[in-house]
Amino acid sequence: WAKAAGRGRWAVYDPDRSARDIARSTLVSELPAALDRGEFVLHYQPIVSLLEGTMLAVEALVRWQHPELGLIGPDQFIGLAEETGLIVRLGEWVLRQSCRDAQGWWRGFPDARLVVSVNLAGRQADDPAIVDTVADALRTSGLPAELLQLELTESAVMGSAGEPLRSLHRLAALGVRLAVDDFGTGYSNLAYLRRLPIHCLKLAGPFVEGIRADGTDVAADHRDERIVDALVRLAHALELWVTAEAVETEVQAERLRALRCDTGQGLYFGAPASAERITDRLRGATPAGFGAGR
Ligand code: C2E
Ligand code: MG
Ligand code: MG
Ligand code: MG
Repeated sequence: WAKAAGRGRWAVYDPDRSARDIARSTLVSELPAALDRGEFVLHYQPIVSLLEGTMLAVEALVRWQHPELGLIGPDQFIGLAEETGLIVRLGEWVLRQSCRDAQGWWRGFPDARLVVSVNLAGRQADDPAIVDTVADALRTSGLPAELLQLELTESAVMGSAGEPLRSLHRLAALGVRLAVDDFGTGYSNLAYLRRLPIHCLKLAGPFVEGIRADGTDVAADHRDERIVDALVRLAHALELWVTAEAVETEVQAERLRALRCDTGQGLYFGAPASAERITDRLRGATPAGFGAGR
């Protein structure tokens, strides 16, 4: 990659460059209309109890069903939506659709008490209107507040002013759960974390990746496992739940369970799937538990 060589400038001609730039500007200009045309879809990924094997929650993950390019993942457009500010409208759609789907699961399978976990972009969380938006999404969908979890990254929790978001306490007062996403990849201020109304830490994938399929650590000294151990203890000391992200193998799931991690999410427990597939799983069409999504 020529770009890496220079000070942010292209040192040599890169035939891919123009194609990439067109793609980027095309996506930016197409985003607003795509929202109006209903081209975004939500997939839901199971979050499973490591002890019981039951599906306790699902994370809503947005995809763009592009008419020509096919299904586009969020890594391709969430950043653009944040830069252009469209994330506020897109995020509100995600929130409302997630609440509607989760209300359906609650009505159909009340005993499952399935929680829906929705990502909030920093820009969305920073907007004081977020509290009213969440309250309205709950009211219009009829979803009980305790069945909604909001995921914020460490930087979103800290907000643009460098202080924890004021909205967090007001959101928690609505009765929704708050989770810190990708925990361990940002800069968390433990003094704040202690005082914030957070319910759950989601351990970032790279720590879990360090627990290899054959049970040995990548660095052969179990360093990542010891980090996970420490983070789980930290979370439990703060009376928080822990979800491990990116659990891909049975060995990882077993190690995480031994480390007292509460819940896991990842390909081992099930890939992100349509709302209908989640309904099937609640109905028991897919056996719940370890490896159920494979
Ligand atoms: P995230 O919130 O950390 O979501 C978890 C990501 O890990 C998802 O990627 C998921 O598909 C992926 N994943 C699932 N299982 C595994 C596994 O076993 N191994 C590995 N390595 N990865 C796994 P996805 O769907 O591409 O989403 C990427 C990111 O885009 C999300 O990361 C989240 O930050 C963002 N995103 C997705 N939907 C939304 C949304 O509605 N709003 C906002 N603001 N951000 C969103
Ligand atoms: Mg992706
Ligand atoms: Mg997330
Ligand atoms: Mg995450």
